[in-house]
Amino acid sequence: MSEPLLCVEKLDVHYGGIQAVRQIDFSLAPGEQATLIGANGAGKSSTVRAITGLQPFGGDIRYQGRSIKKRSPEALLRDGIVMVPEGRGIFHRLTVLENLQMGAWLRRDSVTVRAEIDAIFQRFPRLAERQNQLAGLLSGGEQQLLALNRALLSKPRLLILDEPSMGLAPVMVEQVFSVIAELREAQVTLLLIEQNARLALEVTDRAWVMDSGNLVHSGPSAELLTDDAIQHIYLGEA
Ligand code: ATP
Repeated sequence: MSEPLLCVEKLDVHYGGIQAVRQIDFSLAPGEQATLIGANGAGKSSTVRAITGLQPFGGDIRYQGRSIKKRSPEALLRDGIVMVPEGRGIFHRLTVLENLQMGAWLRRDSVTVRAEIDAIFQRFPRLAERQNQLAGLLSGGEQQLLALNRALLSKPRLLILDEPSMGLAPVMVEQVFSVIAELREAQVTLLLIEQNARLALEVTDRAWVMDSGNLVHSGPSAELLTDDAIQHIYLGEA
């Protein structure tokens, strides 16, 4: 078993008197894909906001063996923790192409970056057609694809996706998840937060279930997909 890339230990998140996350523990090995599922308000976003340095927390989070406690979101980003937040976080007033270029701003290999951007445009003709238009004019699904591809251009060591299917039409959800499914082959370490638990379990190796700030269940995603209780509560099946 390799050294974990990410180790969350007795994580607590409070907002004033509200405790959103309660003493949760989990770890992620390099190259592993995992999902955090649970109902609205379970504490999933609070957990990933802590991991990206955006949210003060109790307990500890170690990344590459080092506590992130005193490190800024910018420093963590430079070290490879990249999040696509709920609502996507693209730059609406930059063009589609400029958004992709922003993803690669820390890279020095500009020839490879250009080739990767060309490959994205080949695969997603809508993004190619609109490369010189403002990103804010794209549909929600196109913005999500843009955000995901921008994140991948930054060559993340740990990619965090917060609700990538939120509010998207089914055909766009399919496209977004086809990109996510490929991350396994590319061995991108992934932490996926998703309301659509079935899809999330299908594209990951491991899963943790949160409920009211607690981690209430964990296991291989394939097992959770067939677990009666999980199916009943989180997959909306009888
Ligand atoms: P969702 O899918 O709705 O984003 P979640 O599982 O990601 O849910 P969190 O967003 O982490 O859950 O919220 C956990 C709890 O913390 C909820 O009770 C929520 O109301 C509360 N909370 C989240 N952000 C804040 C905030 N900025 N101030 C106060 N309470 C907050």
